[in-house]
Amino acid sequence: MSRQVLVAGNWKMNLNHLEAIALVQKIAFALPEKYFAKVEVAVLPPFTDIRSVQTLVDGDKLKIRYGAQDLSRHDSGAYTGDVSGPMLAKLGCTYVTVGHSERREHHGESDDLVNAKVKAALKHDISPILCVGEPLEVREAGNHVAHTTDQLIAGLKGLKTEQVTKVVLAYEPVWAIGTGRVATPADAQEVCGAMRARLAEKYGEQIAGDVRILYGGSVKSGNIGDLVKQDDIDGALVGGASLDAEEFTKLCALA
Ligand code: PEP
Repeated sequence: MSRQVLVAGNWKMNLNHLEAIALVQKIAFALPEKYFAKVEVAVLPPFTDIRSVQTLVDGDKLKIRYGAQDLSRHDSGAYTGDVSGPMLAKLGCTYVTVGHSERREHHGESDDLVNAKVKAALKHDISPILCVGEPLEVREAGNHVAHTTDQLIAGLKGLKTEQVTKVVLAYEPVWAIGTGRVATPADAQEVCGAMRARLAEKYGEQIAGDVRILYGGSVKSGNIGDLVKQDDIDGALVGGASLDAEEFTKLCALA
């Protein structure tokens, strides 16, 4: 069991394709090449930027990976505005976030839809970053572990055991996203440890030991170090701080 640390930058709906090129160049050139053997770095730009990022990464043989923030459950057809797994695969995407709380909230995405999207990504050899986590009222009621692990099992429903290791999990407590209020390392470890234990119950120790679990929610260079020291935290999903090249590379270097 050796899990490579992953730091993934979720740009959300920020940066046009020219700004995307500038940011990826700054990140790639600020980190020494040998760094990428230790930590995997990925950027998750808006759809409109992905082709530009692909051209840059391929052209300059950058070690940065990239992906998307969402995909359709369908491969093609009359789904105006949607983008499919085959389209993302053709653009060389390694990752796609699925079930981010902003999509669950603003687009009413249910666990069933999230599960269908996880399967759609895997079908095209893209690793879904499955986001789970509790809103504030659930934490205050003390039900955060059950809530999050139930979301996790629902998101993975029907996967073959060997597919599960291709999924990256992200524990993102909703109250910590974009608020500046990061979970303490102990709080994050409590839930990430419970997620791994639930995986072990369902898929066995070996698979549970191979799956990477990220923490997300107001991660910055000042808190990443203590978070990734936790036994069950294998990196971070970073929102706001991933838009600033200097802060993001500093954060990556400390992961
Ligand atoms: C996110 O959007 O996944 C996220 C964790 O955002 P932030 O780092 O800004 O809290």
